Amino acid sequence: MRDSIEDVRLKVISCTRCDLCKTRTNAVPGKGSVNAKVMFVGEAPGRTEDQRGEPFVGAAGKKLTLMLEKHGISRDSIYITNVVKCRPPNNRVPSDSERKACMEYLQSEIEIIDPEIVCVLGNTASNSILGQSEITKNHGKSIEHDGRIYFLTFHPAATIYNQELWSVMESDIELLSRMLGIDNK
Ligand code: URA
Ligand code: SF4
Repeated sequence: MRDSIEDVRLKVISCTRCDLCKTRTNAVPGKGSVNAKVMFVGEAPGRTEDQRGEPFVGAAGKKLTLMLEKHGISRDSIYITNVVKCRPPNNRVPSDSERKACMEYLQSEIEIIDPEIVCVLGNTASNSILGQSEITKNHGKSIEHDGRIYFLTFHPAATIYNQELWSVMESDIELLSRMLGIDNK
């Protein structure tokens, strides 16, 4: 039988497939609604996520949650995860081999949740999932890949000290919200 999301979570929290298991405090499996219409995928856990074992609960996560809720997408209704489930030391970008080692978990999450849209946050996620890293050029676009719709936008961490980028990302999220049929006017 196919894994459930709980099976994937259990595999992730005890995973030793790459060296990031040696430096993590907690592995960070994805979290959210199994009925989510949209799944968000970031890069890798940061310090707060590593401490709590939950994705997007630090500064970038707060930014993202604020933006989503402003456009009618409640945090409870989504599923949120990362390409790599353990924090890279000093938040370095995860290596190709780490991404490869971890990819099976993301693939399982996508298959099980089966969202209408997978929203890819930033270049690392876009590069790992779609093989392209031109978020500045392609943000706000939807791409069909392996029979699924992927929507590209920035990583929320990039908007923390950049109000202009925050506004650009916000219009992407507004578009995403419309694509999902959410009317918050
Ligand atoms: N940045 C990410 O890419 N993922 C998190 O979970 C937190 C910050
Ligand atoms: Fe396993 Fe992924 Fe963590 Fe590496 S990053 S130990 S592959 S869960």
